[in-house]
Amino acid sequence: MDLSNFYCIGCHACCREQGHVRLKKNEPDAISSFLELAVEKFIAQYTILTKNRTGLSLIEKEDGSCIFLTETGCKINLVKPLQCREFPHGWKFSGFETICGWARQKRYHNPRILKPSSNSK
Ligand code: SF4
Repeated sequence: MDLSNFYCIGCHACCREQGHVRLKKNEPDAISSFLELAVEKFIAQYTILTKNRTGLSLIEKEDGSCIFLTETGCKINLVKPLQCREFPHGWKFSGFETICGWARQKRYHNPRILKPSSNSK
């Protein structure tokens, strides 16, 4: 899928997907400062060690969505991790085009996807 004109429509579908939201080295400081929490407390309360033990990831709610997803959007939007800001260029999950609102709209408006050619078998 061509992602060159991607823009976030704010559906937050990616925030509801299970999987790691990895934190870069200085992101715990930025997020904890934004939340007015000591960084140690932020790490203990909101992060886990990634499966490969190379870094920290935000924890998930029971339904797999990100701990910082609220009814009105991302609670830490101003300081959200690079992984989130780079979606879907720097990072995306497999099958994202069936979940992401922008990608779904794009597929819906693409007649080649919706209406296969009558020559196709
Ligand atoms: S940090 Fe914010 S943008 Fe990133 S997954 Fe969580 S709710 Fe979504």
